[in-house]
Formats: sequence, structure tokens, C-alpha cells
Amino acid sequence: PGGEPLLEVEDIVVGYGRIEALHGISLQVAEGELVTLLGANGAGKTTTMRALSGLLPLTRGRIVFEGSDISRVQAHRRVLAGLVQAPEGRGVFPGMTVRENLEMGCYARPFRNKGDHDAALDRVFELFPRLREREKQVGGTLSGGEQQMVAIGRALMARPRLLLLDEPSMGLAPMVIQQIFRIIAEINATGTTVLLVEQNARQALARSDRGYILETGVVTKSGPGRELLDDPAVQAAYLGVG
Ligand code: ATP
Repeated sequence: PGGEPLLEVEDIVVGYGRIEALHGISLQVAEGELVTLLGANGAGKTTTMRALSGLLPLTRGRIVFEGSDISRVQAHRRVLAGLVQAPEGRGVFPGMTVRENLEMGCYARPFRNKGDHDAALDRVFELFPRLREREKQVGGTLSGGEQQMVAIGRALMARPRLLLLDEPSMGLAPMVIQQIFRIIAEINATGTTVLLVEQNARQALARSDRGYILETGVVTKSGPGRELLDDPAVQAAYLGVG
């Protein structure tokens, strides 16, 4: 961590019609980092992710990815460049098998040859042995945790340079949440840069190089994960301490 900036978000303003949701936020993610964006409901976390993915236009500011201004680049071209978001609400196709669901991830960014495809699928199955066991099971019959694994695995099939994860622990049981966080840390440790949005502040910060606190559309604090964990104001607002 701490390499070249991979993502630079510069003073972006984003809104829905006349309602401004982000009032000029800036953040950076360096090559190799795991960075968490924290905030209460309605703070603008999802809006930030959607702006990064290219699903919402910027009113002002810019987004620079690997040194290029991508502010006006279409969503599917951002995926091709390696900016890949695992969908919100998981978006697993219920009638497709686990394997077919995973393979949907590389439609947006096709492999050049079968060897690369198989290697990528293998990496996903190594991270999620559970999915290998359930390769032929249809998405609609998977547990919530398994669906989240499919959503993350599918994003990995697009070979992200930066993986965007929006609340991957949402709605999952505590033990499954632990497992998902361990896997996210492993994905990061094996070379993928990750920007994570989480309500589960303690676990996310404990595993993050750095974090940003978002409050009603502005960044109010940022710093190393451990520093934010030890910050009394952060503890009172997000960690149920104080
Ligand atoms: P949560 O944790 O509840 O998902 P969030 O931090 O992701 O919250 P956003 O969903 O980004 O917050 O919402 C930021 C602000 O933008 C909120 O005030 C919200 O009401 C508003 N907003 C979000 N989506 C829309 C929309 N489609 N139309 C109008 N306003 C919206």
C-alpha cells in the first residue's frame, strides 16, 4: 500500500435532479490499498459509488483513474479500464447456475483465451471454496452469504484494477460477515485494490489501510484505519462506544 494513486476523486458534486447529494467530495485510493468509506444512512456512500461507476453524472469536479480523467467515460468503458463494482443488492441471476453467474462477469471484459478464463475462474473458486461445491446450483436457491460471494466473484471475473464493494456485509449473519471480510482482505492481499462502503465500521476499519467519513455529502474526516478506530468521535458516531 501507499503506491501511486490509482483513483483520485477531486471535489465532485453529484445530485438527483435539483437535489444535491454530494457537495464536493475528494478522496484518493493508492495502488494496493484497501480503503473504506463510512457514513450514516443517506450520507452519500452509494451515490459516490454510482458516480465512480459512471451511473450518475458529475455536476462538478473530476474522477481520475490511472492518470486519466474518466469523468465523462461511459460506465461500460470504465469496466474495461478495470474499475469494477460488485452490484448493490447482489444482483445474482436466479435462474443461472453459480458458474454461469460468475461467467457473466467477463462479458463486460472478455478474455483473450480459454487459459486466462479458466485461471480467473479458478482463482474465484480458491477464494470461495463454497462456490466450487455449488458450481451447478442455481442462483435463486443460494443463501444470502453465498449470493454475496457470487456477486464478488463475478466482479473479480472482470479482473478489476480497483474493486468497488457497496455494503457487502448487508443483511448477513455475523459469522458470514466475518467470512466475507476475511475474503475481502485476502482479495486485497493478493493484489487487488479495494474501495469498500460499509456500515459495519469496526470490522471494515480494522482491515483497512485508510478510511473516509462521509456526512451528508461531505468528507468530514479521513485517516489510517487504526487511527479512525481509536478516534473518540468516530467511536461515538459509528462504533457504538462512548
Ligand atoms: P444508505 O446507507 O442508506 O444506503 P448512502 O450513504 O448510501 O445511504 P445515498 O443512497 O448515496 O446514501 O443517498 C445520499 C442522498 O441522496 C440521500 O439524501 C438520498 O435521499 C438522496 N438520494 C439517493 N438516491 C436518490 C434518488 N434516486 N433520487 C433522489 N434522491 C436520492
